[in-house]
Amino acid sequence: MTRLFPFRAPEGFLARAASQDPHDPILRQVLPHPDEDLAWPGFADDPLDERRAQPVPGIIAKYPGRALMLVSGECPIHCRFCFRRHQAGHLASPASPEAWQPALDWLAGHPEIREVIFSGGDPLMRSDAFLARLVHQLGKIPHLQRLRVHSRMAVVQPGRIGSRGLPWLTETRLQPLMMLHVNHPLELAPEVKPALKALRHAQVVLLSQTVLLRGVNDDPDILATLMERLTSWGVLPCYLHLLDPVQGAGHFHVSLELGQRLLHQLRQRLPGYAVPRLAQETPGQLAKTVLA
Ligand SMILES: *Cc1c(COP(=O)(O)O)cnc(C)c1O
Ligand code: SF4
Repeated sequence: MTRLFPFRAPEGFLARAASQDPHDPILRQVLPHPDEDLAWPGFADDPLDERRAQPVPGIIAKYPGRALMLVSGECPIHCRFCFRRHQAGHLASPASPEAWQPALDWLAGHPEIREVIFSGGDPLMRSDAFLARLVHQLGKIPHLQRLRVHSRMAVVQPGRIGSRGLPWLTETRLQPLMMLHVNHPLELAPEVKPALKALRHAQVVLLSQTVLLRGVNDDPDILATLMERLTSWGVLPCYLHLLDPVQGAGHFHVSLELGQRLLHQLRQRLPGYAVPRLAQETPGQLAKTVLA
């Protein structure tokens, strides 16, 4: 397990841990755990059945109107609960800009697609030159309106975001959005704030998604603090995900009942716009399932 998905985390991220205890909410997200090798019933290698939703290499088209582009297979951090942990090598992410032509042709041939979502892995593992070239090609497809980037980079390694944001993301006619992945208030260290500010100044709409994780954030005070800080930093909380049942992540499992109870508590404590939706990915559905 750890051989296929080794420990990986930037120094700056590890420095946010409040202690050296492996149960620290920062360390728990990245330290390999012996329970990863336990076989949990109902937990699969590809829980979302994504290998079947790829019309061409690099594209996942499951939901109407939007398509995921698997821009990179790499991440700056290896989150132990990740549902893509088994998929390195299965989800093809074309390496050279030229190799993206079939994906671009597919998008051009599907006028119902309004939004492209850069995903992965973490799309910001690619160079700015690579990303600029891809976005330039996307801008030429007339029916595309929006470009959304799903990334953990601005939080995990904020130095990747320049003082003027990401020019390839904002020097396009497409409306830019970024969905940040953040799970605990300790992740929102002071150095993250200027990166988010630079993106906002460049007119990027900032949203967040959080995975509900046992022993990390399955607590109303922690979640309320996280959503409060995100909102104050100009990020609108969008999703709180129930963990996808990926093999090796059973020790992070939080029940639906606890998730719904936590959501109820958040609703009593936060402004409505700061409360994320409790959501889950269900294979075969045309949208995420909203559970609270
Ligand atoms: C989450 C997800 C999307 C985006 O869904 P939104 O409801 O637009 O946030 C698109 N495609 C796949 C495969 C997804 O998992
Ligand atoms: S950054 Fe995202 S894709 Fe990468 S390991 Fe973490 S959760 Fe998975």
